[in-house]
Amino acid sequence: MDAEFFRRWLTATTRAVEEEADRLTELDAAIGDADHGANMRRGFRAVSEALAAQEPDVVLTPGAVLMLAGRTLISKVGGASGPLYGTLLRRTGKALGDAPEVSDAELRAALDEGVRAVGTLGKSEAGDKTMLDALIPGVRALAESYPAARDAAARGAEATIPMRARRGRASYLGERSIGHQDPGATSSALLFATLAEVAGD
Ligand code: ADP
Ligand code: MG
Ligand code: MG
Repeated sequence: MDAEFFRRWLTATTRAVEEEADRLTELDAAIGDADHGANMRRGFRAVSEALAAQEPDVVLTPGAVLMLAGRTLISKVGGASGPLYGTLLRRTGKALGDAPEVSDAELRAALDEGVRAVGTLGKSEAGDKTMLDALIPGVRALAESYPAARDAAARGAEATIPMRARRGRASYLGERSIGHQDPGATSSALLFATLAEVAGD
């Protein structure tokens, strides 16, 4: 996979976030502050703009594309999700180094580092009812295939419904966070859906 693959992934994610923004905001209205759709839309629009603003003759590496996207999310999104997704993409990009092409196994290892960095920044782990509950099973299933990762991340997002939130705004609700799907886990599942889409299998 080359830099163009990663641009396509981010562009597809911008589109998916636009399509799902209302749903993400509805989920956040139930257990947060009803801005997750708007935060994601603002962030990924800025990512697409930053990528489009690159000089056409400057060929970025896969790592540089992801690091640019991560920096953009951190600077443009005020909510918790901005620094967390920004860290995910920046750390993943950094782990890819400056290779012009990366293998499936290299991407999986890099995403694994990115997901760990999210847990470190958020002081969160599997079962806390956060984006990690989709990211962790998604990355794990990448060892099998991109479609398997998409399905595992989607199941992970659904599995947050009976959980009690231990991190983020939803944790303020205590028991009342139970029975609602986590918005960040839902957007994380979108990232794996678009990855499977651009990987084309
Ligand atoms: P905010 O909560 O600041 O309004 P968003 O609504 O954009 O930000 O994002 C909320 C999502 O961020 C949550 O649904 C959850 O998945 C994720 N999140 C919040 N705090 C953490 C954390 N400490 N670790 C991992 N993910 C978190
Ligand atoms: Mg919110
Ligand atoms: Mg907010």
